[in-house]
Amino acid sequence: MPVFRQIGIHLLSCAIFCGAAFASGQAISEKPPWCQKLPRPEYSKLHRIPVADTWFEVYKVAPDVFAIYEPHQFEETISYLILGRERAVLFDTGMGIGDLKAVTTKLTTLPVIVLNSHTHNDHVGDNWQFDTVYGMDTEFTRQNAKDSKADAQAEIAPGEICGALPAGFDRAAYATRPWHVTKWLHDGDSIDLGGRTIEVIATPGHTPDSICLFDPAKGLLFSGDTYYPGPIWLFRPETDLAAYGKSVRRLAALQPQVKLVLGAHNVPVAPPEVLGELAAAFEKVQAGQVHYKPAGEGKVIYEVGSITFLMKLPTSAR
Ligand SMILES: [Zn+2]
Repeated sequence: MPVFRQIGIHLLSCAIFCGAAFASGQAISEKPPWCQKLPRPEYSKLHRIPVADTWFEVYKVAPDVFAIYEPHQFEETISYLILGRERAVLFDTGMGIGDLKAVTTKLTTLPVIVLNSHTHNDHVGDNWQFDTVYGMDTEFTRQNAKDSKADAQAEIAPGEICGALPAGFDRAAYATRPWHVTKWLHDGDSIDLGGRTIEVIATPGHTPDSICLFDPAKGLLFSGDTYYPGPIWLFRPETDLAAYGKSVRRLAALQPQVKLVLGAHNVPVAPPEVLGELAAAFEKVQAGQVHYKPAGEGKVIYEVGSITFLMKLPTSAR
């Protein structure tokens, strides 16, 4: 995504920092102000698993669940490796900047099924590396499974990278590579990993193909971009606010069965209460009960308690 995942400081800091970095030719190791605020304090409480590739940080966040975090790019994308006895699900494949397959191979020898929380470029970057990729049966998914370059290039624009890109990374060639969907999924499908069953919950809204994964035995809800701690992006042309409202109400109804919510950006763990708060917050916004603040480029931000939404400027205010 070419726009900022955290609000406010990014554009300003880029205006100052990026010019300087490019003028001096120091784009190799970048440290824009957003990344000077890292690590986020929540990570100090998580169990980190050492991995050789410094592009990724891996945390064991639940039994046989690894969060694979990319702190060196502004999106701070998080993918999840969920292990059963016979198979594993890789929920998202990140930016495609580091070698995610090499990391997953170190974490498990099980066959890996890739599923995507949705097919925005920052969640599908390494899909191409895997033989088994399940996709939601939507036109949006089919379109995104083709190669594309503009969104990927925007992710490495000035101010987007924190520290060094991986050795050998080819900036000019960076693109989202195409992938082949081996099985089409629908709402309510479940995936048997051997001793662990993962349910697919269609949660359209952020995109038409957004899903959450639910592990009912462990009470884990992998919420993709439908919920993560931080401003939730609801401004893209493919976003459907009515569908999003329905989806978050569905997740709120699931809250009593959830022990941990695992989102796709910034921080991998959140308590189940965020689900009820999310639905209530969105309802207030839709009912016109929340004042917004400008957030640049025709966008506004709504804050309701700990929940924030980044949305288009309402038509009435344009
Ligand atoms: Zn997204």
